[in-house]
Amino acid sequence: MVHPLNRFMNLSLQIKSFSFELLRSLKTSQGVLTKKEGWLLHLQSDSGKSGWGEIAPIHQEKLKICDEIIKNLGNNFSRETLEKKLKYFPPSIGFGFGAALAEIDSLIDFGSSKNWSKISQTAFLLPTDQSLISKLDSTLKNHSNESEELTFKWKVGILPNEIEKKILDAILSRLPANAHLRIDPNAGWDRNQAKDWADYLIGEKRLEWIEQPLPSNDIKGLKALANHIPIALDESLLDNPSLRKSWKSWQIRKPSLEGDPRILLEELKRKIGFRVISTSFETGIGRRWVEYLATLQQEGPTPTVPGLGIGWCPKSQLFSKNPESVWEAA
Ligand SMILES: [Mg+2]
Repeated sequence: MVHPLNRFMNLSLQIKSFSFELLRSLKTSQGVLTKKEGWLLHLQSDSGKSGWGEIAPIHQEKLKICDEIIKNLGNNFSRETLEKKLKYFPPSIGFGFGAALAEIDSLIDFGSSKNWSKISQTAFLLPTDQSLISKLDSTLKNHSNESEELTFKWKVGILPNEIEKKILDAILSRLPANAHLRIDPNAGWDRNQAKDWADYLIGEKRLEWIEQPLPSNDIKGLKALANHIPIALDESLLDNPSLRKSWKSWQIRKPSLEGDPRILLEELKRKIGFRVISTSFETGIGRRWVEYLATLQQEGPTPTVPGLGIGWCPKSQLFSKNPESVWEAA
């Protein structure tokens, strides 16, 4: 992966911390996410090339270990040292440094004519409170004149099962034939419940997939379900990265949480299908990667809309497409 002449490159590192509150809190069957915290990094090679990265683990308790690792690295080190350590770092650190190194190596060209920053189509995340149906109705109405196929994502496993099944009927009765639905229990179902929903949804053409219906380590149960209905893995891929090589159906890929992004970049450049790109609420620096990779995904064999989480982050320069503006705003 590393050009032999680049191995001995010396790097200097600047670090800055950031934090922001989401405009709304994200409720899943596993808990509530209200804010993101982490570090921006600016890596410079001795030849003056710049690369930018972001480190922001989704679980707050990982911040301390990330802080220690970053402090121990110091501000000057060789590329060889960094590359050797990278695969042992927590994945959020792997993302930050891998992203910066990829930019120094021009593996990714944010200044190119590729229209990565124009990507706007996203799955609409439905609210999980009483406003769900009215939000669904208004979104359908606002987009009724467009030829684009609408995709909705619905997080379940939050309300009692019987209520969610009634809501499912209400959603399906409203969705036009060309709309898509992604259902995400965030690992919150057991095998019986998952089978019940899968049986009910078999043959439902508007269902794009059920996302991570079972706990991340229940690979046997997930495989059994995938024989009947499209199953996308999400949490399983973070807990067991080798599944990124072996899982043949959909994979929800969250670049900023999964580690060195050069691996996913390479997969998409090789046109490997069934990967869908999802945000984990990044600053502008991480966001560039999410949008760039989502653009590559759409040029691949299985184009589908990413989950960009539009409207969840505040409006500020911290979310600018220009990394220097993001740095200044942190
Ligand atoms: Mg998910």
